[in-house]
Amino acid sequence: MNEQHFFDVVVIGGGPGGYVAAIRAAQLGMKTACVDVALGKDGKPALGGTCLRVGCIPSKALLDSSRQFHNLQHVFAEHGITTKDAKIDVGTMIGRKDKIVKQFTGGVAMLFKANKITSYAGFGTLHDGNLVRVKQHDGSEVELKATNVILAAGSDSIELPFAKFDGDRIVDNVGSLDFTETPKRLGVIGAGVIGLELGSVWKRLGAEVVILEALPDFLPAVDIDIAKAAAKEFKKQGLDIRLNTKVGKTEIKKDGVHVTFSGSDGKEDTLVFDKLLVSVGRKAASKGLLAEGSTVKLDDRGRIEVDAHNHTGVDGVWAIGDCVRGPMLAHKASEEGIAVAELIAGLPGHVNLDTVPWVIYTEPEIAWVGKAEQQVKAEGIPYKTGSFPFAANGRAVAMAEPAGLVKIIAHAETDRILGVHLCGPAVSELVHECVVAMEFNGSADDLARICHAHPALSEVVHEAALAVDKRAIHKAN
Ligand code: FAD
Ligand code: NAD
Repeated sequence: MNEQHFFDVVVIGGGPGGYVAAIRAAQLGMKTACVDVALGKDGKPALGGTCLRVGCIPSKALLDSSRQFHNLQHVFAEHGITTKDAKIDVGTMIGRKDKIVKQFTGGVAMLFKANKITSYAGFGTLHDGNLVRVKQHDGSEVELKATNVILAAGSDSIELPFAKFDGDRIVDNVGSLDFTETPKRLGVIGAGVIGLELGSVWKRLGAEVVILEALPDFLPAVDIDIAKAAAKEFKKQGLDIRLNTKVGKTEIKKDGVHVTFSGSDGKEDTLVFDKLLVSVGRKAASKGLLAEGSTVKLDDRGRIEVDAHNHTGVDGVWAIGDCVRGPMLAHKASEEGIAVAELIAGLPGHVNLDTVPWVIYTEPEIAWVGKAEQQVKAEGIPYKTGSFPFAANGRAVAMAEPAGLVKIIAHAETDRILGVHLCGPAVSELVHECVVAMEFNGSADDLARICHAHPALSEVVHEAALAVDKRAIHKAN
């Protein structure tokens, strides 16, 4: 008979969904445990999930290092700053990234201690009656009985049958965050968020990067004008993005990975890469999470079915984050974690999926909240738009970062903001003023009437709001 422990809340998964849910549950006075199977690079249990270990945080660390190197070589001269023989030591860069990851995964462990959350390192499976069996790394098993269980198992990379990960030549995000040197030729399958961010990292460090994308449109979920502006900048940077390209075969040979594809002209071609990053989306990590015969339902994509409040329909069982419907984003997972902990405690809890901001951390950054113009058009909503370029903003030009624009879409009759789309410097920060406006059901005129500091990048948001009513000051309307 396994040892059995009793909790008010057991969370399976210690990513930004699960660990945040556990902390909030503990804050609300509930006896809480969190189960996570992941190990860090040192082989020791590491909390924080995909986001802290092999996602958001390490990718941003490398994006920042590579940006500094790129600017030193290509931008600083404009400021009169020159240097000879700029070099990048990839080992030092990766070491810095690993230190940041350790700091943050260790930080979660400290927060668990401070909040008296019991941590179990191992694989958790939910059985009937809210019983969680944990297979620990030492082979032993424990049973956790809980009034409420929160499933926060996250997601895994999708593998293509003709490009299996080997951890060396053909890799996913994990491998491409740990190259020991800059690959001379990097192939990427999938021009989505990971392909663009990690493709940018290695391009800035000197790799020749070719991105093969199956769809005919570039970033189809992004507003059409923003996708166009971003594509123009990526082309200038030398990112070779090939749309409408179907990869059919990969072969690992002595000289690299041979990737055979049919291009947009229908002709077959083969390219050879030192490394191939496959970033074609992620799938819910629901395998093995539910015991056989579980009454918790999965949808046709393997995601756990939940209602608008993240309840699975089974008494006391909830699910959040990447393993359920909605965008696969860390902040969405965390908000759901907080909402569920509060609902369990009898408080109101809700996440508005319509105002979750998106950011792609390329150069320039891309960010948005709400609907894109093509979406509003397809839904037959009457709308008007206003946009303003960073090239006409004093601060952006002073920073030598004039690329991009802000575009606001508002309802043609009510002026209510339906979506805001940004491409340019620091738009990962600027988008939040737009999220606030949308959360408060604001109109474009509300944004236009707010005094923005000068000179500031946020003046571009202000001018775009004025432009919705054809009264932008610093451009012809
Ligand atoms: P996860 O973070 O995946 O955590 C789930 C945890 O549960 C994992 O530690 C896993 O090991 C564990 N687990 C799974 N099953 C079990 C089980 N049965 N028993 C025990 N433990 C289990 N999002 C952003 O918002 N911004 C970004 O900049 C960003 N950058 C990214 C960059 C990359 C390269 C990648 C891959 C993703 C990025 N994401 C980003 C997405 C983000 O990482 C995810 O949306 C987020 O981590 C989801 O959180 P989660 O808690 O649902 O799941
Ligand atoms: P993605 O969905 O963003 O992009 C995948 C791309 O691959 C798509 O453009 C798709 O059309 C293409 N594709 C699919 N199959 C293909 C094939 N066989 N050949 C060529 N192209 C193919 O997925 P991702 O880049 O793997 O990222 C996964 C998720 O992780 C993202 O959707 C996002 O939710 C999250 N993420 C977020 C951030 C961020 O917030 N900054 C960063 C990285 C990842």
